[in-house]
Amino acid sequence: MNKTIFQKIIDREIPSTILYEDDEIIAIEDINPVAPVHALIIPKKCIETLNDLNETDGNIVGKMVLVAKNLAKELKIDQSGYRTIFNCNDDGGQTVYHIHLHLIGARKLNWPPG
Ligand code: AMP
Repeated sequence: MNKTIFQKIIDREIPSTILYEDDEIIAIEDINPVAPVHALIIPKKCIETLNDLNETDGNIVGKMVLVAKNLAKELKIDQSGYRTIFNCNDDGGQTVYHIHLHLIGARKLNWPPG
């Protein structure tokens, strides 16, 4: 299977701005931010879409949310507010098939999304 762009970032084959890393997760700045804060929280294990999660993946997804919460505080958007998003498949707007949680903030976000 070809490596995803995120796997290449994890493996240090292409550069990125790393905001957080541990043995299971990496968080990076999005290369094409849609807001002043736009981070991606990515598990090192490649799971293609949310549809591919299994029962044993609950811990890693929970940890991704905790990393998002901690980054929101670190990046000083915890009080003003922020949005976390998993896009899934084509209608959901997914373009990289390695699950990732978007953390977006530092501006007013509209609802519903376009
Ligand atoms: P999605 O459309 O939900 O799959 O999100 C993929 C995200 O990855 C988009 O917001 C892209 O801007 C971002 N992205 C793609 N390539 C890179 C890269 N090399 N470094 C950082 N972010 C990237």
